[in-house]
Amino acid sequence: MTGQPVTPCRAAEIETWADEADVVVVGFGAAGTSAAIEAVAAGAEVLVLDRAGAAGGAAAMSDGFIYLGGGTPEQHAAGYEDSIENMKTFLRAACGPAPDEAKIDAYCDSITEHREWLLARGVRFLGTVFPHANGTSPVDGEGLMFTGGENAYPFNTIAKPAPRGHIPQMANKKAGEASAGYMLMKSMVDTATSLGVRAEYETSRRTSCMVSVEAPCAVPPAARWLATNARTTPFKSTPWCW
Ligand SMILES: Cc1cc2nc3c(=O)[nH]c(=O)nc-3n(C[C@H](O)[C@H](O)[C@H](O)COP(=O)(O)OP(=O)(O)OC[C@H]3O[C@@H](n4cnc5c(N)ncnc54)[C@H](O)[C@@H]3O)c2cc1C
Repeated sequence: MTGQPVTPCRAAEIETWADEADVVVVGFGAAGTSAAIEAVAAGAEVLVLDRAGAAGGAAAMSDGFIYLGGGTPEQHAAGYEDSIENMKTFLRAACGPAPDEAKIDAYCDSITEHREWLLARGVRFLGTVFPHANGTSPVDGEGLMFTGGENAYPFNTIAKPAPRGHIPQMANKKAGEASAGYMLMKSMVDTATSLGVRAEYETSRRTSCMVSVEAPCAVPPAARWLATNARTTPFKSTPWCW
């Protein structure tokens, strides 16, 4: 980034556009890829801009654990019982002195939907457990871990411990080259690309203005958010606007 302040300007003031799309997403990491997939599935032409040289973001270099629970098929296969209420009990205890109960409820109550969304985008999980402490990743390709300290005191006395860190799997994994985060993002980025999402990389040097759009239209909240965030690009995003 240049470090220069970004000043908004009206679309009418722009003489030429580098590109146009219904929806412009800034960032091809976990959030941007999810948003791009949903936008293209809703029928929009989607352009993703990323200042890096490739897709994936920090997510592709992360440990890639997806925190799921409440009795997923992987937990059952590994011999662990869990329930949505048990998971909520743990999170209420683990999220500090003033846990956001509404967020915990929303997260836990939509676990099945989240898991199925990922499965439908090619992410695969496995019902085997790496039972050791946090701070390391499974050594033999196991699919589950106690990533939240669920099996540590005092949480193991408050809620029934269950491994909830679900690790994305990939065929032909190469040690040291393909982390679980890479596995997660490869599936998601491949899905986005196969659905027709376009991407431009190393875009930061071209960042110069904000797009102002006037035409009101009914868009899903995700698309409106994307359009709002697209204002920091020199690319034009017209139909999906606020
Ligand atoms: C070492 C490590 C391990 C982690 N392990 C886990 C884990 O096991 N489980 C878990 O749930 N979370 C984990 N996280 C956290 C997780 O990686 C992040 O929460 C997640 O990546 C956030 O997604 P994101 O899309 O917001 O950001 P990112 O995935 O980083 O994507 C942001 C993208 O936006 C691009 N970008 C940024 N600014 C601009 C700009 N101005 N113009 C154009 N492009 C831009 C970046 O280049 C990047 O590609 C870990 C993080 C780290 C660092």
